[in-house]
Amino acid sequence: MSTERIAIYPGSFDPVTNGHIDILSRSLKMFDRVIVAIADNVRKKPLFTVAERREHILQAVDHDPRVDVDAFSGLLVKYVKERGARFVVRGLRALADFEYEFQFAHMNHRLAPEVDTIFLMTAAQYFYVSSSLVKEVAQFGGDVDWMVPPGIPAALRERLGVINLPKEDR
Ligand code: ADP
Repeated sequence: MSTERIAIYPGSFDPVTNGHIDILSRSLKMFDRVIVAIADNVRKKPLFTVAERREHILQAVDHDPRVDVDAFSGLLVKYVKERGARFVVRGLRALADFEYEFQFAHMNHRLAPEVDTIFLMTAAQYFYVSSSLVKEVAQFGGDVDWMVPPGIPAALRERLGVINLPKEDR
């Protein structure tokens, strides 16, 4: 295992939001390299392909060389070990996230005791931001610009077939 401190930041990122980017940039203060691992879960019927989500994330971090964006399927801890990492980063929003994240972290720790999950609390302005909320608002032509990196609103409108209204009419 290398001496580099590597963390894996797993999620669906469908699409990436400013909440995700906030967690990512803060985790880069603790780790030398962060691998954003896009969960390739077909059951979730994603709006964007893995390749598109990867491109969105790379653009949002301006191709920062410390950020690698990859996809994985199957057991997260297996992937973490394959990538030579010992840490998983997850973001915690409202209390509603806690129960699931608690179970997930405990299960992963049982499966691989050498892997620890680090939780970062979301920035206050992104507390209620989620990919599903972004998609719902965008679907109805609402303004999502403040919730997502530049480029994502247009990608959403294109994918959802939403008419491009002038901003003041949204
Ligand atoms: P998943 O389907 O695995 O929950 P998401 O893409 O929704 O994937 O989220 C990935 C991670 O990012 C999770 O740890 C989630 O709690 C965190 N996250 C999502 N939205 C935000 C946000 N607005 N602020 C902070 N963390 C967030």
